[in-house]
Amino acid sequence: MRLSNWITTLCAAGALVVTPAIAQTVKVTPLGGIDGEFCPQDRALVFEDPNGTRVLYDPGRTVAGAADPRLGKIDIILVSHMHGDHVGNAHNKAPNSGSCDKPDMSVSAVPNTSAVNIALAKKSKIVTGSEMPPFFAAKLKANGGDPANAVLARFGGSVTIAGVRIATVTAMHSNGVDPDYIGGDLGKAMKDVGIAGDVGLATGYVLTFSNGLVAYLSGDTGITADQELVVRNHYRAKLAVMNMGDGFTTGPAEAAYVINELVKPASVIASHANEVGTVDGKVRPGSKTEAFVKAVKVPVHVPLSGKTMEFDGAGKCTSGC
Ligand SMILES: [Zn+2]
Repeated sequence: MRLSNWITTLCAAGALVVTPAIAQTVKVTPLGGIDGEFCPQDRALVFEDPNGTRVLYDPGRTVAGAADPRLGKIDIILVSHMHGDHVGNAHNKAPNSGSCDKPDMSVSAVPNTSAVNIALAKKSKIVTGSEMPPFFAAKLKANGGDPANAVLARFGGSVTIAGVRIATVTAMHSNGVDPDYIGGDLGKAMKDVGIAGDVGLATGYVLTFSNGLVAYLSGDTGITADQELVVRNHYRAKLAVMNMGDGFTTGPAEAAYVINELVKPASVIASHANEVGTVDGKVRPGSKTEAFVKAVKVPVHVPLSGKTMEFDGAGKCTSGC
């Protein structure tokens, strides 16, 4: 067949009608405590793939449970580890209740966790690593949900759900299950002696979206060699969500080292500041957030609650930053 005939045939088959992936963006919307600010408890982000798949990362305490109107459709929930500020042991009554420096965490989510309550209401899949899936499967089942919606992605493996590839990566942290989620005599006995349940290691995530964007979500972690060896060298992450609040996870200087020397993404979203990070939407002078922004060599985007940022396949913010 001559070349012109090939082209005619391909066009007829629709093979040359391709959407330029680079023009498509992943939308990232922080669901924090107070609209337009970056507050102490803020962890939750919704990632929306260009194909419409919506992924909720670490609902924590600032998503007002399953009834939070900001959630919309949630296809996938990610939980980096079992601590209450990530899985959601309690949460605010409604978005913008309380204040940035005194967050409202008045609604208890034990023994279910907020992540499970949202998954039940939205029929989402909960994708976790380590030995967390059986915990979530049991909670879903106990509440009339489908235990098969607890999905495993253990280190080195990945799952692709609704066009988003999800892998878990090392996070150097602890991952105890609070006895409050266990309850009964066993939960009480554990609480009395001060021990937590074991569901394996804490994790971070690497997400690959349909526009080619690869995003690293650090979870709570110290500095690890895998941030260079796995997250940069293997997955080639171009956007990072970096926890930088110190004490429980890397502080501003350590987190900046991870970004500048190990992961080297095109841009980074700060997370988990455990402080009032902004006042009137501007980074607060003298804050850890400010120290992190100043120490990082690539653009740092501060996640202002409710403000959607868009990222292209190369990790560059194209709108909302
Ligand atoms: Zn934490």
